[in-house]
Amino acid sequence: MAETLTFENFEVTVVRSTRRKTAVIKVDLEGVSVRVPADLPLARIHELVAEKTTWIERKTAEAKRKRAGIAEQAEISATLTNGSQILVQGKRLSLRLCESGHMQVVQSADCLEIHAAADVLADTDQIRALVEQWLYRRAVEELNFCVNVYKQRVGAAPTKIQIKDYRARWGSCKPDGSIQLNWRLIHAPMHIMDYVVVHELCHLLEMNHSKRFWSEVERVEPQYKMKRQWLRDNGWQLSF
Ligand SMILES: [Zn+2]
Repeated sequence: MAETLTFENFEVTVVRSTRRKTAVIKVDLEGVSVRVPADLPLARIHELVAEKTTWIERKTAEAKRKRAGIAEQAEISATLTNGSQILVQGKRLSLRLCESGHMQVVQSADCLEIHAAADVLADTDQIRALVEQWLYRRAVEELNFCVNVYKQRVGAAPTKIQIKDYRARWGSCKPDGSIQLNWRLIHAPMHIMDYVVVHELCHLLEMNHSKRFWSEVERVEPQYKMKRQWLRDNGWQLSF
């Protein structure tokens, strides 16, 4: 049975571990938890958490907003219909369903038009598949273009570029010199996509997150800290 500490505005789940030497507090969508060494007295844990009250309350409020946003998004994507908002390269496009014998997806200034037969337009799953396919193709184009632009500036070219369907990461780099990029980056503003591409290309020079690695990133992307933070804060919105 998990121990719980109750504070004025939040509850904390205590997770004890024999391997742990220090206490660490975590706030995520599930709530607040503290991981502690197995024998740390509960009164001391209470004290440690109390010291971080302001930080925990701020993080809890953030998590609450995030949960509300996710719920709202789930509701929107459950019903893809005329007027639904699709995020493409940081811009909200309005979905427009157009009955047509010729199936195609067309992007105009502020709309994403789905041309298809009436029975397809009546089926959210089929609309979703069409939108996703279109977004994926756009992602492949944009990400390849982006890598081509930045490989010169970084001074490293990948052996292979793979566009992947990752749930919890934006990119990766393998020892064989290939890089992997998440197709959902097509939702992000272009300068954010640039940062992820530069980040992975820099791993071809430095296969770690050392000081030398970050200075390579900074050389090409002087604003990288802001962009990294933007992804942490907004990454969960990059879906439809
Ligand atoms: Zn990295």
